[in-house]
Amino acid sequence: MCGCPRRDAMSTSNAESDEPTKPAFDDEAIESIRHHLLDWYDRHRRDLPWRDIDDPYATWVSEIMLQQTQVSTVVDYYERWLERFPTLESVAEADREEVLDLWEGLGYYRRARYLHRSAQQLVEEGDGTLPDTADELEELPGIGPYTAGAIASIAFDEPTPVVDGNVARVLSRLRTLEGDPKERANEKIQWRLADQLVDPDRPGDFNQAMMELGSAICTPQNPNCLICPVREHCQAFETGQPEQYPEPTDRPTQKSVSAATAVTVRRPEEGLEEFAVVKRPAEGLLGGLWEFPTVELEDDDAIGDRIDTYLAETLGLSAASRVEGRALEDVTHLFSHIRLSLSLRLRVIDAEESTRADDVATERPLKWIARDRLDDLPMSMAMRRVEELALDALDEGEPV
Ligand code: SF4
Repeated sequence: MCGCPRRDAMSTSNAESDEPTKPAFDDEAIESIRHHLLDWYDRHRRDLPWRDIDDPYATWVSEIMLQQTQVSTVVDYYERWLERFPTLESVAEADREEVLDLWEGLGYYRRARYLHRSAQQLVEEGDGTLPDTADELEELPGIGPYTAGAIASIAFDEPTPVVDGNVARVLSRLRTLEGDPKERANEKIQWRLADQLVDPDRPGDFNQAMMELGSAICTPQNPNCLICPVREHCQAFETGQPEQYPEPTDRPTQKSVSAATAVTVRRPEEGLEEFAVVKRPAEGLLGGLWEFPTVELEDDDAIGDRIDTYLAETLGLSAASRVEGRALEDVTHLFSHIRLSLSLRLRVIDAEESTRADDVATERPLKWIARDRLDDLPMSMAMRRVEELALDALDEGEPV
């Protein structure tokens, strides 16, 4: 037993006597909520490309893309992905660069790496199909309790619940759950309630209906209770202050990270300018993406010195090779928990001096790439902005 809330909710042996009994629904309420919610969903559900398909692989792709990303953003990526990778085998055969390239701009790149790795694992170790139960799906990298429940219920009709932020809010309001909704004990209660409610005949539709209710009607502020299909069972509505549930939680503080990026350019005797680009380590933030040489800054670092040291010691590009240089506009990019501030420097270096010193040991593969091929590399949104500023500066035609 993994101790995760979905599995706890499914385990009958876990119905300990110390579990609070108050939040549970009675049989009449369960039937009524199922009926009214599915009826509402059938009439109002959004038309989305991953609905009404019979392809577990495509459901998997959609659910991974929908993690932390809005539906409106996902639609185009989903369609492009399935056009390029119509089957699980086609993802398994692709190289990582291409997978990341297709994911570019969607963020949270770890999701793409997990999809790729899982597809390879399923082809190498099995018959190239997805497992059909939530328990087995949860064994795959990048699939947590929510995604496992969503795929199993939507693609395989397993009557298993899902609880995401939207569902947690609806449940907290239906049963006026007190306390921090992210606390372990409360999460367990939410999964239990969702497990009670999920419709055994239409589990996928029921789960999607709960999520859609949360995003369209039972919104964090100003829930539209007057048109809510489950209002007659909602305890928070009866209090007259439904937005008091769930209790607000402290937002995680956003860590500030400062870094310097050196857009390093050389001008061969013939052909277009070339840019030094470095591949990020495979794991971690923006793993596997390419970037212009970037180094994190300490509080008292002088930016120019820090860049020169980094280029020389890590990438083998000597400061002596610099022929021109200047500062560009700073770039700020917000990740979920990080505020990244990039100080930019444009460096033009002597083409003949640009060969990396042989004695520099580096784990970061650097390459020179012509400006018309920069768009072929998978890069983060922040680096695309850096690219734009650097190309503008170069195209202004003034000496840098
Ligand atoms: S009645 Fe209001 S608070 Fe209750 S579930 Fe519906 S929208 Fe949410």
